[in-house]
Amino acid sequence: MPKHSPSSLNPRAPLVLDTRDLPRRPGALRTLRRVVPAPVDLGVELIGVPAGANLNLDLRLESVSEGVLVSGTVTGPVQGECGRCLRTIDYSLTVNVQELYAYENSTTDITTDEDEVGRMQDDLIDLEPALRDAVVLTLPTNPLCREDCPGLCPECGVHWDDLPADHSHQQIDPRWASLSQLNRTEE
Ligand SMILES: [Zn+2]
Ligand SMILES: [Zn+2]
Repeated sequence: MPKHSPSSLNPRAPLVLDTRDLPRRPGALRTLRRVVPAPVDLGVELIGVPAGANLNLDLRLESVSEGVLVSGTVTGPVQGECGRCLRTIDYSLTVNVQELYAYENSTTDITTDEDEVGRMQDDLIDLEPALRDAVVLTLPTNPLCREDCPGLCPECGVHWDDLPADHSHQQIDPRWASLSQLNRTEE
């Protein structure tokens, strides 16, 4: 069974890093700054980076004995919805990326699983899986517009911020109120 699927990476794809000009000599370095459009579905259910938004890559590619170590930051806008009040959430997210990509047929390539260590395809690195992991791990599963967001009144759906402090739907019809008092005396 072949260990590698045939190279399918497009060197011009925004998140494919080309290492052809990085000497395969441990310690060789190259910096890479690039603005690329965000791929679709970069996020979780309620929050994520909008597809096509500008992602700023600020990366360092370093040759190590068995491959290339990619490290640095990726910054992009995040948009989502508050899980309590549905207000729009909008901020800039910076994630750290650090991932080793083994040369094809290196000892690392042969002795590790692909989910432990990334793989190079010829001179190309697909940054997208590592970027996705970094972004998804950083995003909140239950995003809030602010930490103490009080949410919405479950009765009328108005934000508690916009309601008076004594807002309540507990007023019972006076006729029912006396009835419930009757019930209480019977017990
Ligand atoms: Zn909120
Ligand atoms: Zn209400």
